[in-house]
This record gives sequence, structure tokens and C-alpha cells, in this order.
Amino acid sequence: MIIDILTLFPESFSYLNCSILKRAQESGLIKINIIDIRPFSKDKHKKCDDYVFGGGAGMLMSVQPIYDSVMSVKKDNSKIIFPSPSGRVLTSEQAKQLSKEEHLIFICGHYEGVDQRVCEIFHPLEISIGDYVLTGGELATMVIIDCLSRFIDGVISKESLSEESFSNNSLEYPQYTRPADFMGYKVPEVLLSGNHKEIEKYREKMSKERTKKVRPDLKDD
Ligand code: SAM
Repeated sequence: MIIDILTLFPESFSYLNCSILKRAQESGLIKINIIDIRPFSKDKHKKCDDYVFGGGAGMLMSVQPIYDSVMSVKKDNSKIIFPSPSGRVLTSEQAKQLSKEEHLIFICGHYEGVDQRVCEIFHPLEISIGDYVLTGGELATMVIIDCLSRFIDGVISKESLSEESFSNNSLEYPQYTRPADFMGYKVPEVLLSGNHKEIEKYREKMSKERTKKVRPDLKDD
């Protein structure tokens, strides 16, 4: 998968060069390009924002630099994503679908957001990462990329995915590693028993209890 990120703040993306995402890029499963929008501005001072018509606080990212930067990477098979509080909130299922795309383009809004004509021209898929407002789309873009990358074959093991929270409309059971006793905080006996049937039963029970308590809105499969 090729991912092009269009942003006014290219320095924000070091997280993408760590850990699992770093390995995914090194092994060629994902190629991420971070593209600075500013050089595309036709303004003599390379300005990329302006006042909002009709008044209101803050500045808005202008359509021209975004338009030209999108056109510099867009192909027939590109899917354009605009992280935005006005989009539907990202789900695991949607991330799974996006992981099948060949080319994703992310437009990172900043300040008050972007000129609406960006959406009128490109009809991007608007995705929110939650009911709150961030200062820019850079973090949201990284959240979406991180989440969808996990569904790309070879990025993480299939087993990890199937047991993960939300995979069966439930939250994952609690997990422990060594030592078995830390300052008197003990790992539940059953997990040390080696009895796989009992361990499975215990995990299912804990997962159900946790889901019911914290996320009763998730429908049990
Ligand atoms: N004026 C906009 C509004 O009220 O909906 C908020 C603009 S926000 C300060 C700047 C940019 O951050 C947005 O254009 C978007 O790209 C990104 N952003 C902010 N909150 C977000 C969220 N919850 N999900 C995804 N992107 C978000």
C-alpha cells in the first residue's frame, strides 16, 4: 500500500518511523510519503491559509495549495481521506476495509480546517477519530494509518488480530506476563495451570464481564 500524507507540518510524523510501522515500511508492506503542502502555494510568500469569508475566528487552509498537492499524487485508484470532526467516527471494521486499498491520500487540515471546496472537488472520505477537536489532522492521520496498517497482511500476526478488542464486538480479556507474583499482586492461578480449555473459558468470561461493564453498547456476537 502507498500512503501519501499532505500536511503543513511534515515534522509531526516521527511516530510512523517507530516499532511495527517502521518494520512494515522496511519490509515493503507500506510505503509512506510525507508531502509538504507549502511549496505548492502560488502565493509569493507561500501562504497557505486565509481569513474566513463571512467572519469568524481563526484562519482556514486555502484550496489552491491543497488542490495542487493532491493532484501531484492522485491516480485512478487513489482513495482520498480527510480526517475531520465532521466525519463518521473510525471503527475497526472501516480500518479493515481501508487496509485493502492500494493508494491512500490523507489531507491534514489545520487551524480552523480547510476551505469547503476541497471536499466539493475531491469528495474525500471524512473520518473522525472521536467527538473532540484536535488542533490539526496530523494526529488523526497517524491514528487512522496505525489502525488500518494492523490489518495489512504480514504487519502483525493473524492470531493477534482475532483476539483483539472489537474483533468480536467485545473488549479483550486482561493479560499478564512474568513474574507470576509482583509485590503480592498475583497472576490468576488458571493462567498458570496449563489447562487450555479452562484458560479459554476464563478469558471468555473476563472479556464478557469487561465489555458489559465498560462498553454495554457493543453488541455481543
Ligand atoms: N473548525 C473545525 C470544526 O469545528 O469542526 C475544527 C478544525 S480543527 C481545529 C483542525 C483540523 O484538525 C481539522 O480540519 C481536521 O483535519 C483535524 N481534526 C480535528 N479534530 C479531529 C477529529 N476529532 N477527528 C479527525 N480530525 C480532526
